[in-house]
Amino acid sequence: MANFYCKYCGIHHSSVSNLTSSSCPRHPNGVGKGKHALYEGDEKSQYTCKYCGHKSSTISNLTPGSCPRHPDGINKGHHEPAL
Ligand SMILES: [Zn+2]
Ligand SMILES: [Zn+2]
Repeated sequence: MANFYCKYCGIHHSSVSNLTSSSCPRHPNGVGKGKHALYEGDEKSQYTCKYCGHKSSTISNLTPGSCPRHPDGINKGHHEPAL
């Protein structure tokens, strides 16, 4: 069964509609300020931040870290997995 991941927090659901209907604790606009957003890449053994290249084995481990090369400024946002 396929899993669909949120690109912000790494939570996964078996359906996109379940995933995107609940609020995301790591949404870039603030805690619970938006819904989970679908990570559109494939499931991988390692995920790479698209801004700085930081690597982690899961999305949920990658995204808590502040990103030194975030487009909003140094450490103004979190790592985001490349597709
Ligand atoms: Zn989320
Ligand atoms: Zn990063």
